[in-house]
Amino acid sequence: MSDNNLFGKALWNALEPKILSEHKVSSVKLCLVGVVDRVEVYNDKAIPFEIKSGRAPSEGVWSNHKLQLAAYSLILRDKFEVSNHGYIDYIGNNRRKVVFNEFLESELRDKIRGAKTLLKSIRVPPHVENKRKCDVCNLHDMCYDKVFMKKAGSEKNLKV
Ligand code: SF4
Repeated sequence: MSDNNLFGKALWNALEPKILSEHKVSSVKLCLVGVVDRVEVYNDKAIPFEIKSGRAPSEGVWSNHKLQLAAYSLILRDKFEVSNHGYIDYIGNNRRKVVFNEFLESELRDKIRGAKTLLKSIRVPPHVENKRKCDVCNLHDMCYDKVFMKKAGSEKNLKV
């Protein structure tokens, strides 16, 4: 870098890509918040990455991981020109590409609409079918505590 006589801010500006780790994102319009594990910012675009500790599917990525990355892409668009793809890094150096196309965006927007409807509903939804998801969910203790759920529900006039 000293060969190019670049220091301080000029050096920072010349570096590419810039790496943003654990990058917090949110969108009031989309009702979404999250933390992107890694964003690589190039002059003309940003590429989101998500790191997953679980095993990868035999091909592609798990659908919830695809939607998560698509959601990050959508939120990042408020601030960056976002690439038409991102990556999920599974354990064992297993990098999988996710292409952001209109079908994926439409699926994501459907999910967001569904979640908003659920939030407006007066009935607490049942537990998910795949209980393995509950085992690693941050809300597990509250969600399976009947006394807590009944109290929280009655405070909000929800049917538990
Ligand atoms: S524990 Fe988590 S994943 Fe399971 S039903 Fe409750 S909120 Fe859903």
